[in-house]
Amino acid sequence: MNMEEYRGVWVFIEQRNGELVDVGLELLGAGRDLADKLEVDLCGILLGHNVKDRAKDLFEYGADKVYVIDDPILELYRTETYMKAVGDLVRKYKPEIFLYGATANGKDLASAVATEVMTGLTADTTLLDVNLDKRLFEASRPAFGGNIMATILCKKHRPQMATVRPKVMKKADPQPGREGELIEESISVQEENLKTKVIDIVRDTNKAVNLEEADIIVAAGKGIKDEKGWKMVEELADVLNATVGASRDVVEMGICGHEHQVGQTGATVTPKLYIAIGISGAVQHVVGMQNSELIIAINTDPDAAIFNASHYGVVADAFEIVPLLTEEFRKV
Ligand code: FAD
Repeated sequence: MNMEEYRGVWVFIEQRNGELVDVGLELLGAGRDLADKLEVDLCGILLGHNVKDRAKDLFEYGADKVYVIDDPILELYRTETYMKAVGDLVRKYKPEIFLYGATANGKDLASAVATEVMTGLTADTTLLDVNLDKRLFEASRPAFGGNIMATILCKKHRPQMATVRPKVMKKADPQPGREGELIEESISVQEENLKTKVIDIVRDTNKAVNLEEADIIVAAGKGIKDEKGWKMVEELADVLNATVGASRDVVEMGICGHEHQVGQTGATVTPKLYIAIGISGAVQHVVGMQNSELIIAINTDPDAAIFNASHYGVVADAFEIVPLLTEEFRKV
């Protein structure tokens, strides 16, 4: 492999129904910094149907070039089609670094592309840099339950790829009217040759749980005891316009679904406010919420580990204090 042929920083721009997902814009912010250090172009990769017009937003958020494949076959995300389209672009244009959001689709696509083009992938990173002397991408992520940061290098393959957690990087300030180069490509795949077919789309009718993008999370631990306690937490969340999170124990008790789980095997969240109710503060939970801007814990045990990870702690019975908080916030 001739590594010198690989140049440019790429960002996969995820879109849902034509709306750009925030993490793509955040990665343009982080990618701009890497591209400037390496003195290369920052490029957005935009796939979908009727999405071409969104390229101008990407220029305003820092992209120098946008590669677009606009085709009905890409309207819905499917691993097979997206992997093929992105794999072809990588083989043709040879990027040096390629970033994806660590969303469900981003993680799925990045791992598929890594096998398609035979390169490595660092998953779930939170810190990105480049070593200019060695011209190596340094992607770092928490390891050993968040106790250390592991920096992972991809020395022998290109592109160097990483998925990056949402809400960790900052979007650049948009520059209205900033222009760039739009490069339109096509996909060579035909529907009849695909192994996966979309037969039906069943929308989840439950209130969507989007922990990663929530500004306020009220999270319940085993201390809330049962469905009645969960309802109490939901009521507080409702008046605060918050999303409800949970520890793994609450999920395992069958009180809520896994989509509510925060932690090592759940979501990593960075809201402005995280209220932990009846959560002990096991390391596997804390790694998922420790980067929240403001953490308030409510627990009957003054020695609970959650207080070490919190800015404010309330030693109290949740069943007494939570209804009072709900009542007071309702007045505001
Ligand atoms: P507990 O540890 O039982 O804590 C309950 C707390 O409630 C106690 O501190 C208690 O003092 C308090 N309490 C009791 N009654 C009240 C009351 N009336 N008012 C106020 N407080 C009260 N856990 C996660 O959360 N997320 C993960 O992603 C995750 N991944 C894991 C992965 C692995 C590989 C492993 C081994 C474990 C993982 N866990 C995860 C589990 C984790 O280790 C803990 O078991 C779990 O977080 C504990 O949940 P909890 O705090 O709700 O329960």
